[in-house]
Amino acid sequence: MAPPSEEHLGPVPDLRPGPVTGAGAFGARAASDDAFKQLFECNPLPMWVYALDDLSVLAVNEAALVQYGYSAEEFLAMRITELRPPEDWERLRRDVREPGPSLRPSGLWRHLRRDGSVIDVDVRAHRLTFSGRPASLVLALDVTERLRAERELARLALHDALTGLPNRALLVDRLGQSIARAERGSVVPAVIFLDLDRFKTVNDGKGYSAGDRVLVEVAKRLSEVAGPGGTVGRVGGDEFAIVVEAVAGLDEAKAVSRRVAWALEVPFELAAARVFVSASQGIAVASPGEPAERVLSKADIAMRAAKASGSARPQVADDKAVARESSRLDGEIELRRAIEEDELVLHYQPVVRLGPLKVVGAEALVRWAHPRRGLLGPGEFLPIAEASGLIIPLGEWVLRHALADAAAWVSPDGSASGASIAVNVAAAQLGVANLPFVIARSIRAAGIAASRVHLEVTEGALIRDLERAAEVLGALRDLGVHVDVDDYGTGFSSLSYVQRLPVDTLKLDRTFVTRLGSAGGDDSIAASVLGLGRSLQLAVIAEGVETLEQKHRLEELGYELAQGFLFARPMPGAEFRRLLTSGPLASGALPSRGAP
Ligand code: C2E
Ligand code: MG
Ligand code: MG
Repeated sequence: MAPPSEEHLGPVPDLRPGPVTGAGAFGARAASDDAFKQLFECNPLPMWVYALDDLSVLAVNEAALVQYGYSAEEFLAMRITELRPPEDWERLRRDVREPGPSLRPSGLWRHLRRDGSVIDVDVRAHRLTFSGRPASLVLALDVTERLRAERELARLALHDALTGLPNRALLVDRLGQSIARAERGSVVPAVIFLDLDRFKTVNDGKGYSAGDRVLVEVAKRLSEVAGPGGTVGRVGGDEFAIVVEAVAGLDEAKAVSRRVAWALEVPFELAAARVFVSASQGIAVASPGEPAERVLSKADIAMRAAKASGSARPQVADDKAVARESSRLDGEIELRRAIEEDELVLHYQPVVRLGPLKVVGAEALVRWAHPRRGLLGPGEFLPIAEASGLIIPLGEWVLRHALADAAAWVSPDGSASGASIAVNVAAAQLGVANLPFVIARSIRAAGIAASRVHLEVTEGALIRDLERAAEVLGALRDLGVHVDVDDYGTGFSSLSYVQRLPVDTLKLDRTFVTRLGSAGGDDSIAASVLGLGRSLQLAVIAEGVETLEQKHRLEELGYELAQGFLFARPMPGAEFRRLLTSGPLASGALPSRGAP
């Protein structure tokens, strides 16, 4: 079969290289002469040939003429020095004289076009003999655009797109340079870290484009305050930092911080509104040799202290606050690892039916089996989880494991247990849009009936945002799970807000149970919560029952469900499984004082 090239392309020129001299290219073999010439002249890549002795141009193709803007006559009358700015001539001469291989990349050059503009070119060259003269065939690709794009990318990687300010990485780099420059003892750089107060209300109230305009204007004002001796960077959404190149001491840094406050005092005039912005500020003065990251984070920590205090005064970084912060961070890192490595464990506290006592379910309570510190209660790590956002993965972990455990529970008669499983859901989890999905997934994975699942939400979390709560609880109820209001009665709000929420159970807080049955005991709240529950057809569970007197009083009031150390303490899963199948509470007897 004929080679496809002949079929489709017509006669194929002889592409074998001619004699190594190169003279053959336009030389003797007349048959292929024109074809070779065409390959050069019509080549879409800009090329020319110049003589190595006098640098005169011997041949040029059309693509090169277009790239440089010359006519063929003009180009052929030039020496290639004319394509280069004079400052590059020396490099050109060296390049020409250098022996080396005949095929050579010669790198990036700047070339002049006819109109005087400069382009960046990537040059490749091949030494040859052309019309009997030592010459060089040059291919010069215009890479101006590519280089510009690369430079822009590099710049963007170090600058904030909205304000054009250096980003955190660049700011840290500059700070590091300033610290390195600082003379021991005399002057050092300082960092002022600032975070706009309540900036979210600008975004929420006036829209994101208004928020953006405020940020751009803040950037401008800060740059004016910082002056030529300072670098302003945007280090977070509404966080900025100023590196003051050299201060003689803290007072000077404080003076800059005061000027920052003044600069922000002028209202921000937007098209449709006037916005007032203030910032919390933290100041850190670098010590010679101190790592830049550390100085910046010291200022950041100080800023957070200023924000927490609610005062307009800047806070100055101090080492104690830094130590506290770093131990908080350590705790966070450790807890994250604990969740990943399954160091958390669940204990279960029975929920009992009063009268002839019987376990009807359990509440899952999380503990941390800490490798060094032993079994930690939730009070020791939930605050860290909540402050760091780890409460979200922690909450998912608890759901997954509690439901899987409960799915395996067995009744005294050997059948699958129908006991309820209550899982605490933190306020932050309510705010996560995919909570119903996460719960549905855990239920499916465990293969448990949704009707056995109770989610405990504290009263505090509910009243924070009733509307949002109603929405989320509605979605949860659609899944078929129950919603229990935990610590009921502690929210300092009217007891009847629950009317407006799709909830199933009220868990009377322990404080009201404690007041029962003792001398001068007060049972008014316990009574009214039960009354409210009845009228709204909600179950009511009394929490924290510790004494027989409390139990009796609850029974007199009409309580049917309870939880507390009197009946049982929270216990490991295996223990609860035994209790449910064959323990005293399974059959209805009251244990002496609950397992330890
Ligand atoms: P809570 O949900 O109100 O859980 C009841 C707490 O009261 C448990 O404390 C339990 O051990 C304790 N308790 C039960 N009966 C008695 C009693 O008769 N007397 C006394 N003095 N205390 C009793 P624990 O396990 O330390 O949990 C404390 C809180 O931590 C829980 O209060 C709950 O708000 C939170 N928590 C526990 N586990 C989780 C969890 O998995 N997720 C979330 N988000 N929070 C959890
Ligand atoms: Mg609870
Ligand atoms: Mg509670």
